Amino acid sequence: MRCARMFGVRDVRVVESPTPEPGPGEVLLRVRACAICASDLHMYEEGHSSGVYPSGPIILGHEFSGEVAALGEGVTEWQVGDRVACEPSWHCGHCDMCREGLTNLCREIVFPSYPDRDGAMAEYIAVPAFSLARLPERVDFIGGALAEPLGVALHAVRLSGLKAGMKVAILGAGAIGLSILQVVKAHRAGEVLVAEPCGPRQEAPRSLGATVRASWAELLDLCPQGQEPDVVFEAAGAERSFAEALELARPEGKVMVVGIPTPDLQQYSAKVPRRKELTVVFCRRSRDTLHECLRMIAAGELDASAYPIRRYALDESPAALADASRRDSAIVRAIVCP
Ligand SMILES: [Zn+2]
Ligand SMILES: [Zn+2]
Repeated sequence: MRCARMFGVRDVRVVESPTPEPGPGEVLLRVRACAICASDLHMYEEGHSSGVYPSGPIILGHEFSGEVAALGEGVTEWQVGDRVACEPSWHCGHCDMCREGLTNLCREIVFPSYPDRDGAMAEYIAVPAFSLARLPERVDFIGGALAEPLGVALHAVRLSGLKAGMKVAILGAGAIGLSILQVVKAHRAGEVLVAEPCGPRQEAPRSLGATVRASWAELLDLCPQGQEPDVVFEAAGAERSFAEALELARPEGKVMVVGIPTPDLQQYSAKVPRRKELTVVFCRRSRDTLHECLRMIAAGELDASAYPIRRYALDESPAALADASRRDSAIVRAIVCP
């Protein structure tokens, strides 16, 4: 099969590799859409994922959908040709975390595109049958791929305990910020404020009903005492955005860290969360969100077409990664469609 392999920092080439064989309990998927995530960009730009280096050339991509192409031993619930999306946290099912249902925190977690498991920027990928969900008729392959960032958002919103009418602030209007915006709206949040410094990226959150400003400081002006956000979602992963989220939240409020903080060693003033008795929750990927996200997209509660995207052929994967890496256009997802 053809696939896009990363050989080093910013060095991705389209090459031939053996088509994977689906093992017992696995399904071979013909990939139809694979979106490029900020975590792929970390790997692309730095050559590692939070300090974990691949031991050889690796295929990126974990936000994907496709068609079932072949079945491994013991798989009876899927048929060749089924249209599916995938929740890419592949858990072991028997460690202490899995036994408690905390599958995204599995001790033996396997994640495609995370060293050393190949991802989905390829014609084919073998995936565990349990990680798949059927695409509803009205959801296309791109919607299926975007169910992954929506799942990350749904997981964070579930952890936040958001209630109807609560005021929300979101730092960052990339795909995760936009997904959080959609999910909190679907959960009947009150006013939603978004900080996004990149001008072209301010339009999508505005059209989804948020009040958008270029910085957290400008949001602060909209939040006089007594009107601060109940929940602040950090979805920028920028150098200061965790500290800014702490500044924005109301006393006794919550800060949800959804982005990947960069640099890893963060600086903040401890008196800010201490004096306000803030609850800070760090979120990891998603947990049991795929079926619900696909249901919400099919029901019109979430809009997969609200994301500014650009499509690329598999051969254009190097350009897709280079374009996504610039982070300066309205496009929040480059999507490779093999
Ligand atoms: Zn992702
Ligand atoms: Zn486990």
